[in-house]
Amino acid sequence: MVSMTDEILKRLEARLDRRSFLRGSSLSAAALLGVAAASPLVVFAQEQDKRQTDKKTDGEKKDEPTDKEKDGSSDEDPTKVTKLDADGNEYRECPQCGSNMYRQGRTWTCENCGYSYIE
Ligand SMILES: [Zn+2]
Repeated sequence: MVSMTDEILKRLEARLDRRSFLRGSSLSAAALLGVAAASPLVVFAQEQDKRQTDKKTDGEKKDEPTDKEKDGSSDEDPTKVTKLDADGNEYRECPQCGSNMYRQGRTWTCENCGYSYIE
């Protein structure tokens, strides 16, 4: 990286008008040096960010199947599945106690604990 910085400095100096460089304020020279010195670091930092982003992307990709599995299990949420009992009545599993919930209109009510929700 040091040799890279030196190389950039040489190129910048070669591009400069010799007289303006000598006459120029120490500020502009310092700014040039600063830019030249910072550039490799900036590139390096950007590459690091890229790698971290890639890693994050990979992580998300790895997480996706897990999310899908979660979604799949939520689709099969037993409390959301309407079943038929022996008498042919619709019922659902109570999310509170696991007993049967029966529907009255749009309201599902648990026969055991009284938990209800409207669907
Ligand atoms: Zn219940």
